[in-house]
Amino acid sequence: MMNKRELELYIHIPFCARKCAYCDFLSFAVPESTYRDYMDKLIEEIYGQSLCFPDSCVISIFLGGGTPSLLPADLIGELFAVLYGCFTIAEDAEITIEANPGTLTMEKLEVYRESGINRLSLGLQSADDMELKMLGRIHTFDDFLKSYQRARQVGFDNISVDLMSALPGQDLHSWKNTLRKVMMLKPEHISAYSLIIEEGTPFYERYGRDGEPLEEEGVFSQRDGCQAKSILPGNDRERYRELPPLPDEETDRRIYHMTRELLASQGYERYEISNYARPGMECRHNIGYWTGVDYLGLGLGSSSYIGGYRYHNETGLKKYLSLDLREAGAAAREIQELSLEEKMEEFMFLGLRMMQGVSGNEFLGRFGRNMWKLYDKAFRKLQDQGLIEIEAPWVRLTGRGIDVSNRVFSEFLLD
Ligand code: SF4
Repeated sequence: MMNKRELELYIHIPFCARKCAYCDFLSFAVPESTYRDYMDKLIEEIYGQSLCFPDSCVISIFLGGGTPSLLPADLIGELFAVLYGCFTIAEDAEITIEANPGTLTMEKLEVYRESGINRLSLGLQSADDMELKMLGRIHTFDDFLKSYQRARQVGFDNISVDLMSALPGQDLHSWKNTLRKVMMLKPEHISAYSLIIEEGTPFYERYGRDGEPLEEEGVFSQRDGCQAKSILPGNDRERYRELPPLPDEETDRRIYHMTRELLASQGYERYEISNYARPGMECRHNIGYWTGVDYLGLGLGSSSYIGGYRYHNETGLKKYLSLDLREAGAAAREIQELSLEEKMEEFMFLGLRMMQGVSGNEFLGRFGRNMWKLYDKAFRKLQDQGLIEIEAPWVRLTGRGIDVSNRVFSEFLLD
């Protein structure tokens, strides 16, 4: 086991009870009879792919979506029996399932524990029922509380709560209220992302890219040279138009800083731009992504990164279900070999998301290149602007650098 190559698994369950108003993930509602068909195909893919990884040791599994907790408990039990049969899974592997509070029962939680799942990621987003309604979530704060308590009862001692800030009409007061209510429960981990308005979502119709609604039904609106058409029927469009404006940039920034301070006061350390944990309870799976561990994606639309190649799985459900997946790689619709430059750029972008930053030694070991020489110009410029700090062998973002992280990351693009 010691000499085996480390591997992470991501498994995508693309089903949701209903689509949230801001979501552009690959997820949708289907009749329940489709769950069985999907699981059969997923299991076929797992068998096929596992043949390529006899020398790997799985250090983490993340069952994400969509809403994996929507699936009946027996399907999850079956999935894990197959995973344990096909892969070598480390004894201390971190195994996470994403769950939606409106979908968790005691029976499901017990099966998760019996299946080896040791981490629960609960998507709450807000503790305010009005905000949850605006987001189109299927649950209330009370549903979340019940799910949280049940999870503790069955023995989950590693729970993460997902929150979302910069919601329509949100101010510092309401965000603080959400944070306080969640902190009182003492979860081990909290993710706090800002709402992003994604194209093709109902929220995009209301807020566009710059906070203004798109134009009338059937009228094409010209933005950034693109054409966008309303995706909503008239009644829904009217409903979304009544949503309050988004918080301005200044409020968004104040929310971000307040989050770090409040969470720090309760023992949560920020270890990545949007992720906070009690010491030792960081999400190992995500740290693997950010530090370049190989990962194998399984299921509809999942991506993999193996040995410098990126694979993207088929995204159409009908097509995925019709494929013969007994052959390894049969679900991939696109394979991309990353150049050395692309690998180095990505290593910088992802690594700098982590508060510990990027190590020049690690960079040298991985790519055989001297990071300090390669990025000398970028480092000097960003250091002069107070956006990064260097403490050899580490380079990391400063507080100001985090506020403009995308601008900082763009400095690491190689021509
Ligand atoms: S539950 Fe999650 S994946 Fe499903 S629609 Fe809502 S945000 Fe998207």
